[in-house]
Amino acid sequence: MSTSRIRLFGPDRQMVGIPEIEWAVWILGPDDVLKQPDLITALEVAAEHNACFVELLDGSPYSPTCYAVVLHHGYAWNRAVEHQLGNDCGHPDCAPCTINRTSLKAAG
Ligand SMILES: [Zn+2]
Repeated sequence: MSTSRIRLFGPDRQMVGIPEIEWAVWILGPDDVLKQPDLITALEVAAEHNACFVELLDGSPYSPTCYAVVLHHGYAWNRAVEHQLGNDCGHPDCAPCTINRTSLKAAG
């Protein structure tokens, strides 16, 4: 599978993870999917991995290319994209989604 051809966002976005897993971090390169308990942890894990990958870059064309991507139900997570799709982005501090969650609770 060539990672350069994967469409993570947009109408023809590809599922790259496991839909049953709500939050995960996908490591491109070794192609690992690491299950996470929530979005904040997933973002932290992805950030740590990406920082380490930058450290490993030595400019050589043979150095491995690795990226960490946060996955939400198997799709690459991006707050703006989730909002465009009308989804709750899952971030506990997101104002518009918090309002929706509160009104859902009030309605239920
Ligand atoms: Zn949101």
